Amino acid sequence: MALGRARLERPSRYLVDERPLPAAEIDDEIERLRRAIEAAREELGVLRDRLHGSMAREVAEFIDAHSLMLADRELTSGIYDLIRQGGYRASAALKLQRDRLVAVFEAMDDPYLRSRKEDVEQVIARVQAGLQRDSSSEERKLASRIGEILVSDTVAPAELVPLAEAGVLGVVLSSGSRVSHGAILARSLHLPMVVAAHDALSAIAENDLILINGDSGEVIVHPSSADLARFRAWQRDSLQRSRQLALLAERDTRTRDGVEIALWANAESAADVALARASGAAGIGLYRTEFLFLQRRELPDEDEQFLAYRTLVLGMGGLPVTIRTLDLGADKADNSVLMLDPEDNPALGVRGVRLSLRHPQLMRTQLRAILRASAYGPVRILVPMVCASEEMTQMRALLRECARDLRSAGHEIAEHVELGAMIEVPAAAIALPGMIRQLDFVAIGTNDLVQYTLAVDRNNDHLANLYDPLHPAVLKLLAQTIATAQRAGKRVSLCGEMAGDRRYTALLLALGLTDFSMHPGALLEVREQLATLDRGALRKHAAALLRAPTHARIEAVLARMATSSP
Ligand code: PEP
Ligand code: MG
Repeated sequence: MALGRARLERPSRYLVDERPLPAAEIDDEIERLRRAIEAAREELGVLRDRLHGSMAREVAEFIDAHSLMLADRELTSGIYDLIRQGGYRASAALKLQRDRLVAVFEAMDDPYLRSRKEDVEQVIARVQAGLQRDSSSEERKLASRIGEILVSDTVAPAELVPLAEAGVLGVVLSSGSRVSHGAILARSLHLPMVVAAHDALSAIAENDLILINGDSGEVIVHPSSADLARFRAWQRDSLQRSRQLALLAERDTRTRDGVEIALWANAESAADVALARASGAAGIGLYRTEFLFLQRRELPDEDEQFLAYRTLVLGMGGLPVTIRTLDLGADKADNSVLMLDPEDNPALGVRGVRLSLRHPQLMRTQLRAILRASAYGPVRILVPMVCASEEMTQMRALLRECARDLRSAGHEIAEHVELGAMIEVPAAAIALPGMIRQLDFVAIGTNDLVQYTLAVDRNNDHLANLYDPLHPAVLKLLAQTIATAQRAGKRVSLCGEMAGDRRYTALLLALGLTDFSMHPGALLEVREQLATLDRGALRKHAAALLRAPTHARIEAVLARMATSSP
C-alpha cells in the first residue's frame, strides 16, 4: 500500500540511451552522472527534512538507507567503471548496474532481503530522473517561466485541441508527416509542430529547454545564445511580415496579367473562420466535419451539428461554405464513438462515403443538420473518398430525401444546395468524365490523391521521400481533373496542402487551376505570390510539364517557368 502525491511523467524520462559513448565524451558523462547522484541525494535530504508525524522515524530510516546507497562506493564505482571502461552512457550504465544488483537480491533466500531489491530500483530510478533533468540552472530558471512543448512519439488529432487549449506552445513528434491530419490540425491551431524527429525521445530530456521550428523542422536542444538571438529575430521579422501581408487583406486576388483567382479557406475552428474573413477569403472551401466527432462518448446529434454548421455559415457572413460529410477512418484514430470494427488496412477500408452509405441514419442526421444550416447562408456539400458514380447517386438520393422530409416538417432550407465530390482517389479522377454530370462542383484532395496514386501512406514518415506531389502521374491526374470539370462548366478547386504551399502556386496555375482552398494562415502569402505570376505565360508550359517523364524533369520545367514569370 502506498500513500503519496502522484506526478505523471512522460515515458521519455526513463528512456535509456543505448548509443555508444565516444571516448571524448567520457569525462562529461561522468560529470553528468555525478551531478545526477548529487541531485538525488539533495532531494532525499529535502524529503527527510519535511518528515513529521508518527511515521516520520520509520520513513526516515528508508530515506537514510537510500542516501547511504547513493554514497556507497561499491554501487557507484561500478557505474563509473561501466562508463569509463565499457563506453556506456550514464543512463545505460545505471540500468546495467540496477539489473546486476537486482539479480543479486533476487538470488537471496531471505524473503526480507530479497524484497530490498525495491530499494535499489527506487534509488536508481531517482538518479535516472536526475539525469534526464540534467540542464544548467540558468536553463531551468528560464524553462520554469515559459510554457511547454510536448515531445512524444505520436499524437492523435483529437488530442491536439485540448493540448492547445491547455497552452502547450508546440509539439515535437518522433513520427508523423506534414500531410497527416495531426499536422493539418496543428496548422489550424497555430501550433508549431515538428514531425519525424526520429531521435526526439532519446535526445530530449524532461525539462530541457528546446527551440523548435515548424517550417524547417529544426529542433534545437539547449539553444545557444546565438540560437535565441535567431529566435528573437524571427519573432521580429514575422511580426513585420504579417503587418506587410495584412495590407493585402482587402485586395482582390489577381495574377500579374489580371486573371481573377479565388482563394478559399479550409476551416477547422472558429479561429480559422475569423482568419478566413480577415484575409478576404472567397468562402470556406473545405470544412472537415469529422473533428466534431472525435474524442467523445456519443455521436453529436442533429441539433448539435446544426448549431455548429450554423455558426460557421453565419461566421462567413454570406460567403459560400463547403461542408464535407464525415470522413472518418484511416489515421483519425479515435473511432470508438462509432464502434467501427478494426481494419487491417484502414486507408483502403470503410472510410468517407463508404462509411456514410453503410450507416445511412448517421448520414441522414448530418445531411439534415447541414440543410437546416443552409437557411442561414450559401452552403455546399462535399462528399469525401468518392470512387464511383453510384456513390454520388446514393448520396444525392439521401440528400433529396432529407430535404423533402425537412420541408414537409416545416423547416426553412435553401432552395438549392450544391453537391460535390472530392477527387482524391485515382479511380475518381480517371472516371470523372462519366461522373461529372452528377456533380455540381469538384474539389481535388491532393493529400489523399498523392497517397493513393503512388501507394504511399501519407502518414508513414519512412516513405516521406516517395510522397511526391511532383510525380508525373499526379500531375496528369490533376490536369485531367481540372480540364474535365472546366469543360463541363463545373467549378473545381484544390483543397489539399499543396494549395497553400507557394512552391506549387505557379505549377497549379499552369495546370489551369483558378480556385485554391488552403489553411487561412497561408492565404495572404499565396495572394502575394499570385500577383507576381503571369498566368498566360505559365499556361504555355502545361504541355511541357505533362510531357516531363520524371520528377527531376518536372522541376526543370518549373525552373524555366520561374524565369519566364519571375
Ligand atoms: C485531401 O485528401 O487532400 C483532403 C483535403 O482531405 P483530408 O486531408 O482531410 O484527407
Ligand atoms: Mg482526403
